[in-house]
Amino acid sequence: MEAAAVPVQETIPAVSLFGVRIHAVNMDEAMQHILRFVREGIPRQVVTADSSMVVMAQKDEYLREVINQADLVTPDSIGILWACRRQGIVVPERVSGVDIVVRLVQASAQTGLRLYFLGAQPGVAEEAAQRLQMRYPGAQVVGCQHGYFSTEAEPDIVRRIREAQPDVLCVAMGIPKQEKWIDRHRHALKVPVSIGVGGTFDVLSGRVRRAPLWVQRIGMEWLWRVGHNPRKISKVMLLPRFAWMVLTNQHAIEVVHNGR
Ligand code: UDP
Repeated sequence: MEAAAVPVQETIPAVSLFGVRIHAVNMDEAMQHILRFVREGIPRQVVTADSSMVVMAQKDEYLREVINQADLVTPDSIGILWACRRQGIVVPERVSGVDIVVRLVQASAQTGLRLYFLGAQPGVAEEAAQRLQMRYPGAQVVGCQHGYFSTEAEPDIVRRIREAQPDVLCVAMGIPKQEKWIDRHRHALKVPVSIGVGGTFDVLSGRVRRAPLWVQRIGMEWLWRVGHNPRKISKVMLLPRFAWMVLTNQHAIEVVHNGR
C-alpha cells in the first residue's frame, strides 16, 4: 500500500503559538517555497502572520483553521520572533508581505513570473504596480483590482483573475478578510499561489510611507504606522493582549515539527 503523501505544510519547520502554526523560515526560504509552489501549479495559500492575527485566531475559529491549513505561514512581526525566542526557539527573521511582494516583482523582472494585485482603495494597486515596474523593468503585473467590491461582483472578479492566468495572486484586503477570501475562492481561481499581504499596496504605491530603516530595526514599525494612520489603533490594541498571552502562558509556544 502506498504511504499517504505528507502535506507540504508539514515538511517545513514550524512552531505553534497558541494553536496557530507558523513556519520558521527566512526570506530566502519563503521565496524558494513560493517559487516551488508556482512550478507545481496546485492552488496553494500563503499567509503572512503577525501578532494581531494570532490574537484574532483565538476567538475566530475559521481564521485559525485557514492559517493551520495554509501551505506556508511566514512570521510577519517582531512580536512573533520575540515570543519564540523567549522559549528558546529560533525563528530567523521577519518575512513581511511588503518584502515578499518586492521579491516577487524582482523575480518577475528576471523570469516573467505573472503577478496579479487585488485589494486596497481604487487606483492604489495600479499605482503600486506602475512604481514597481519602473523600478524593475520587465516585471509582469498582469492585472489589478481594488478591494472594495460587493459579494455580487465576486464571480466576475474571480473570472477576470482566472483569465489573466497569474502565477501569484497578492491579496491586500487586511486580516482576516484576505485570508478568508483566498480560502473561499482559491480552487475557483486556479492560481498556483495566493498570498495575503495586508497594507502592502498602500506602502508600495507611496501613499503610506514605510518607517525609516532604524525604526524597522528596533521593531517599532507598528507604532510608526499607528502614528500615520489612527484607524490602525484597533489592531494595535491587540498587541498588549499578545504580550500578556506570551508572558503568562509560555507553554503554549512550542516546536510542532522540524520539517522532513
Ligand atoms: N482593504 C480592502 N478592502 C476592504 C478592507 C480593506 O481592500 O474591504 C484594504 C485597505 O485599503 C488596505 C488593506 O486592505 O490597503 C489593509 O491594510 P492594513 O495595513 O490595515 O492590513 P493588515 O494590518 O490587516 O495586514
